Amino acid sequence: MAAAAKAAVPDKDKMSNLSFVLNAPRDVCFAEQPKPALGDAHDVLVAVDYTGICGSDVHYWQHGSIGHFVVRDPMVLGHESAGTVVETGSAVTGLGPGDRVALEPGSGCRRCPDCRAGRYNLCESMVFAATPPHHGTLTGLWVAPADLCYRLPDTVSLREGALVEPLAVAVHIVRQAGIRPGQSVAVMGAGPVGLLCAAVARAHGAATVVSVDIVQAKLDFARRFAATHTYMPRPRTSPPDNAAAIRAHAGLPRGADVVIDASGAEPSIQTSLHLVRMGGVYVQGGMGKADISFPIMALCLKEVTARGSFRYGPGDYELAIQLIASGQVDVKQLISAVVPFSQAEEAFRRVQEGQVIKMLIAGPNNDDNI
Ligand SMILES: [Zn+2]
Ligand SMILES: [Zn+2]
Repeated sequence: MAAAAKAAVPDKDKMSNLSFVLNAPRDVCFAEQPKPALGDAHDVLVAVDYTGICGSDVHYWQHGSIGHFVVRDPMVLGHESAGTVVETGSAVTGLGPGDRVALEPGSGCRRCPDCRAGRYNLCESMVFAATPPHHGTLTGLWVAPADLCYRLPDTVSLREGALVEPLAVAVHIVRQAGIRPGQSVAVMGAGPVGLLCAAVARAHGAATVVSVDIVQAKLDFARRFAATHTYMPRPRTSPPDNAAAIRAHAGLPRGADVVIDASGAEPSIQTSLHLVRMGGVYVQGGMGKADISFPIMALCLKEVTARGSFRYGPGDYELAIQLIASGQVDVKQLISAVVPFSQAEEAFRRVQEGQVIKMLIAGPNNDDNI
């Protein structure tokens, strides 16, 4: 077997730790932060090459908070990153300088009942990038435990590596749904996570995948990317009527075996419960309003299995990387543009305007010719 391709090892002394910092809502700046050092023998120092912008980053930029997470002190944004290993701690095996890695941005405490039960995404002591008060990955250098740095196969680029994080979110959602070969799946919302859910559902053998969104361009993309069917809900139409129309359009008279909400929008969630079949599965992946009107009678009478999904857990990053490496999910198609670090704010603006799927920002030490 050929040795894994390694990137040239960057010289950390010559590297900048320029960071993209949120001071207050709509107030961002570039600031040179102190360079992080390995804090533990198991740590790895990584030069960040690319970071994707997530809806949550844009939300913090706009509003300074998400739910009870409030930005009180300046915070570096970003959590969807891939980079190149610069230095490893003395106990690290299996990773070395020059290795290209996808970064899992959250670190559980490893000691609480949830961590010990293998559900570390539920850890109450989770330290997660760009979730206040913790800094994110739109920075030059990043330190993480080695087991949260996943080596990319030679065939997977660093740009694709930055898409592993949102793909892992979709993998977790699809695993929560327990999709089996031949099943029908409806995905509400055709943003990045909804699109990736559709693709992962196909990779799990779903025979019918219907993407639902209110933007035609997103549906057109979904159809090319992964969906077998698409549907645009009609305005001023009740959720039961929209659900009936989706069933008819997708040839699912009994309803969908699985409905995934990747929108967080109240009408979509309501439609989902009318769209799912008797005894079907509903998974909430999207985050919108904290409280909504929910068709709980449909849930009860149809004996629907409803599950939440939050971030990702054991094995999700590995599967996401395998899905990319095997060509089953072509995340490259989602990359709308790559911009240099100096254009980070402009990239955020473009995401907020909604004309792009996924923007990548090159790291401040990445001299990739963009
Ligand atoms: Zn994200
Ligand atoms: Zn824990």
